[in-house]
Amino acid sequence: MIYQRSSALFAEAKKYIPGGVNSPVRAFKAVGGDPIFVKEAKGAYLYDEDGNRLIDYIASWGPMILGHAHEPVVQAVIEKTKKGTSFGMPTEIETELAQLAVSMVPNIDKIRFVNSGTEACMSAVRLARGYTGKDKIIKFAGCYHGHSDSFLIQAGSGAVTFGSPNSPGVTQGTARDTLLADYNNLESVRTLVEANRGAIAAVIIEPVAGNMGCIPPTDKFIQGLRTLCTAENILLIFDEVMTGFRLARGGAQEVLGIDADIVTFGKVIGGGLPVGAFAANAEIMAHLAPEGPVYQAGTLSGNPLAMGAGLAMLTELNERPEIFESLEEKTIHLHEGFDNALKKKGLPYQINRFGSMLSVHFTDTPVVDFATSAKGNNATFKRYFHGMLEQGVYLPPSAFESYFLNDALSYSDLDETIAALDRLDLRVV
Ligand code: PMP
Repeated sequence: MIYQRSSALFAEAKKYIPGGVNSPVRAFKAVGGDPIFVKEAKGAYLYDEDGNRLIDYIASWGPMILGHAHEPVVQAVIEKTKKGTSFGMPTEIETELAQLAVSMVPNIDKIRFVNSGTEACMSAVRLARGYTGKDKIIKFAGCYHGHSDSFLIQAGSGAVTFGSPNSPGVTQGTARDTLLADYNNLESVRTLVEANRGAIAAVIIEPVAGNMGCIPPTDKFIQGLRTLCTAENILLIFDEVMTGFRLARGGAQEVLGIDADIVTFGKVIGGGLPVGAFAANAEIMAHLAPEGPVYQAGTLSGNPLAMGAGLAMLTELNERPEIFESLEEKTIHLHEGFDNALKKKGLPYQINRFGSMLSVHFTDTPVVDFATSAKGNNATFKRYFHGMLEQGVYLPPSAFESYFLNDALSYSDLDETIAALDRLDLRVV
């Protein structure tokens, strides 16, 4: 495939935008080469600036669960745009989306809309601190909750891909209040709780991790975490920015059968427009301004375009919940096909999957936490990524990311993807 125009556009972008991108993981640092510039997308396909068609497995990192340029979402945005794009005043559609989200997700009464997953997680932690009167939080190595200061401590996703899991610019004071545990290791949480008794406001977790590859929690771990938090008066925050409205109507809470105290959303809830949200029961949410003293605000929060896209998206997912099963079946098909193809290559590998999230790791031990994910062989990963790209398959350009399947993918797309992997020579020469 030819990527001449993408490379030229990247060179130009680098003159004016740091690293040529507006979010680091878009640059191909982990895999080498120039990033692909996309021109447009429809359904399961991306069309790049050189005229290549790529089968898309990142779905804008999650939001495009119904495929790109999905007609009802596009129509909703067009209709809303004609009537004014932002008012800074309340609109009825905010309540409509709030009501729908609350009806789909277990265990939440009220929801506040923001503009990104980062804002949602940052605000959820502030609310937890304001509600409990305690300062410290526990997060897990390799989990990513956006780029706000408190979370850039052993963060996953682009932060680790780019070698800055602990970012310069985060003060020591802030870093001190973020305690670090290991995913799937309840003992590591217990040790922190015992050493900081009475000081921990919240534990924040990706209930199914997607930012160190896809790592499901063991039942024992996630149930134990819930029990421990309840016993110690610590709020359990589920960061469902990836999993919300993707794993099921009610997200990971529904699938895992665990109630969180605060839940954060992003990605799917905005239908591809900038939306995040956080939600909890009425008692906790009453602490939020203007009802309560915990401050949080946003000029563009709940703006009509974003709410229109989100409402169109959630309405369809609510009315067609079989989408979640069909997405999972497609992901299982891909998983099995990849497994058969990789088995023949004589290289160590692991495939992790949960619902419509999946990741491939070139390592011989099961990937259950950040340390085991980090053992993956990046030289093999690079060959894998570029070998697939050459054949028209767009995978996440880092092993610390998850694939997100979308409803527009057909079985023939999946089989084309599996055949591409089958043809690939992954031996590093
Ligand atoms: N939490 C999780 C679990 C995420 O995956 C992400 C983004 N990938 C975020 C929070 C931050 O969301 P945003 O990029 O919209 O700020």
